[in-house]
Amino acid sequence: MNYENPKYKKLGESIIGELFPKLLNVKIAWLASDKKKMDSGRLVFADCRKVSEQYDWCCDYDFIITVYEPNAGRFDEEQLKILLEHELMHIGVEDGRLSIVPHDAEEFTEIIRKYGIDWSEPKCK
Ligand SMILES: [Zn+2]
Repeated sequence: MNYENPKYKKLGESIIGELFPKLLNVKIAWLASDKKKMDSGRLVFADCRKVSEQYDWCCDYDFIITVYEPNAGRFDEEQLKILLEHELMHIGVEDGRLSIVPHDAEEFTEIIRKYGIDWSEPKCK
């Protein structure tokens, strides 16, 4: 089940305001999923999908960002922000054309440089 999540929307929009001004006019649906999504044996915390042209007549969004809550539910606020920043980096805007930006490494090197490769690991307190 997927449902709209106002918390992700609020957090996501504040990240857009801070870091991604080019995305201000992009329509993003912020969803939570109760699915425990895996990909090649690894947990998927979230994903970002472009609404395909096939569906743009019935879907008022350009992109759908889904957080898989069984996988990312333990994230603290800071980790959640990094996760959403990661997903927003997947949105490409060039000359008004929208696209999905693939990872430049396993993770975006920008995320690794800013937060470290292990940002999603549980924190020792
Ligand atoms: Zn990604």
